[in-house]
Amino acid sequence: MKSLVVKRSVVVADHKTSVSLEDAFWNGLKEIARERNITLSELVEAIDSERDAMRNLICWCPETQQPINLQIYTDYATLARIWSNPVRFQCPHCGAEHETKVGAACLQTTLGRTASNEAHEASARRAVR
Ligand SMILES: [Zn+2]
Repeated sequence: MKSLVVKRSVVVADHKTSVSLEDAFWNGLKEIARERNITLSELVEAIDSERDAMRNLICWCPETQQPINLQIYTDYATLARIWSNPVRFQCPHCGAEHETKVGAACLQTTLGRTASNEAHEASARRAVR
């Protein structure tokens, strides 16, 4: 079977390196980087420095803005496969059922913990309202 994983060159922390990601994952990254007004390298760098955090995906309740632990533990390879899958969960904060995408939760987990990206987060939230 033909592999969809493609090697790409990126610059992470001033070092040129390559990452192997499936196209769906890669396109998700590009989309989010564009939405958040950061470069792809900055995004990859943030993810790279938060490897452990990615195994415990967090998203935010759209009503209360409180973090919710989705309890999804996964590695990069699995994450790439389920990247665009929707996740439904019962919200512990407002009690409603929310739906998000694995990729979105992954990036919220990563970028939400990166202080330097808080401004990007804030502007991204304003943009969707
Ligand atoms: Zn909620």
